Amino acid sequence: MKARSLRFRMMVLFCLVVGGFLLSTCVIIYSIFARELRLELDRRLNEAGVPMVEDLAANPPDEDVFRLDLPDEYLELLDRAGQPLNMSRNWREHPIDVGPLRFPDDKPVFRTVEGATGPLRVELIPFVLVKSPVVLAIAGPTRDVDAVLGNFRKMLIILVPVGLLFMGAISAWYVGRSLRPVTELTRQAAQLAQSISDPRSLEIEAPRLATASEDELGKLATTFNELFARVIAVLRQLRQFVSDASHELRTPLSVLQGETELLLAERREPQEYQKALTVIHGQLRHLSRIVEGLFTLSMADAGQLKIAKDPLYMNEVLEEACEIAVPLGRVKGIRIEQDLERDVASIGDESFLRELFLVFLENAVKYSPPNSRIKVSLGRGTTSVSVRFEDQGIGITAEQLPHIFERFYRGAGPDGNDTRSGGLGLAIAQAIVKAHHGSIEVETEPGHGSVFTVNLPLASGSVSASPERPTPIVTR
Ligand code: ADP
Repeated sequence: MKARSLRFRMMVLFCLVVGGFLLSTCVIIYSIFARELRLELDRRLNEAGVPMVEDLAANPPDEDVFRLDLPDEYLELLDRAGQPLNMSRNWREHPIDVGPLRFPDDKPVFRTVEGATGPLRVELIPFVLVKSPVVLAIAGPTRDVDAVLGNFRKMLIILVPVGLLFMGAISAWYVGRSLRPVTELTRQAAQLAQSISDPRSLEIEAPRLATASEDELGKLATTFNELFARVIAVLRQLRQFVSDASHELRTPLSVLQGETELLLAERREPQEYQKALTVIHGQLRHLSRIVEGLFTLSMADAGQLKIAKDPLYMNEVLEEACEIAVPLGRVKGIRIEQDLERDVASIGDESFLRELFLVFLENAVKYSPPNSRIKVSLGRGTTSVSVRFEDQGIGITAEQLPHIFERFYRGAGPDGNDTRSGGLGLAIAQAIVKAHHGSIEVETEPGHGSVFTVNLPLASGSVSASPERPTPIVTR
């Protein structure tokens, strides 16, 4: 509908412009042609009149001039008061009123008057005849000129509408042709929009608008294609996220349901209640960790992760995280070795940083074989601090590596159930590091271990030499 009305408007505009141009061209040509014809008539009258005046002035009174009986040439000699002195026969038979005799600069004047047989062009030539100022009026019919102009007008009256119709047809064709790619693009885009709303379309490759041209329309199609590809990618991510999140939540929820149903089914011994409650407590912690993680990520997505800018000692925050991780490692006989530079003053959010370090420590424990070693080191550069977590674990394969920071992504681990973060750990770590304007590097060798290095800007200029000791907060 829109395209049609645009087409109509463009057509009308095209017709108006071309039609206006055609019409004004015809009017101009007609005026020039009419002027030229009249000038030609005046020239002819003048060419006939001037020799007569010369004759009369040379041989007065030369009556022969008035005896000439040319059907289309009327002659009259008048005094300057307008009184006729002599005239040709046809003038006498059809008297002509030539109007007032006024001669600016004493030069001949031309005018058109109404004669008995139709309009006449008259030339009035002032001259002196035997010392008396007289005027020779020579007139001729404008009939031929009017007939030619009349025919020309008739021709224009037919040609202009035909030309306009022709222009209309051409403009309809041209505008239609010019808008065809737009109409086609609109049709394809509508089809694509329709197919995107179809849930099955997310399974297939992103549909593409076809265009061969490299002009503005081609660029528009490319932009549309990019937009569609992004929309589809986001929709896929969203769908994946919802399915992963519900999957992650379903497991602890069904454990909780099973445990509570078991407890409620019949009266139990106190030890059984104790055991079941321990399981329930563990699952509830797991659930709340996932929910907290999702909340952190959604805040980070919205750019609303509230990161405190507190002065702190990075080595102390790292030590606290290691203290929490040591008992986890001990269960598997894993040693956590620390090589931390002292008094590394920086600025950041202590609890988020502790959470960040714990993600790497827990992963290192989780993906390392029993009785191995984890090495944590902290070094200070001129503008940043770097924290290294080195393990002797299973490493990460080349296929897994590009995905490890994705939400709910889990590579094959040594023990698939031992995932306290539910596949959100590295995604949260990345969000925290990003909020601190830092970066994460991974070096890994499958079967031999991994090294995760977190680089955080030092912000040393804004940290006082000796920041207030942050109160250790242990969240678990
Ligand atoms: P989770 O550990 O709960 O699976 P993460 O987001 O913390 O989720 O990690 C994503 C994936 O990255 C893990 O499933 C694992 O395959 C891989 N990974 C992370 N850290 C290590 C590590 N230190 N060694 C080997 N693989 C790791």
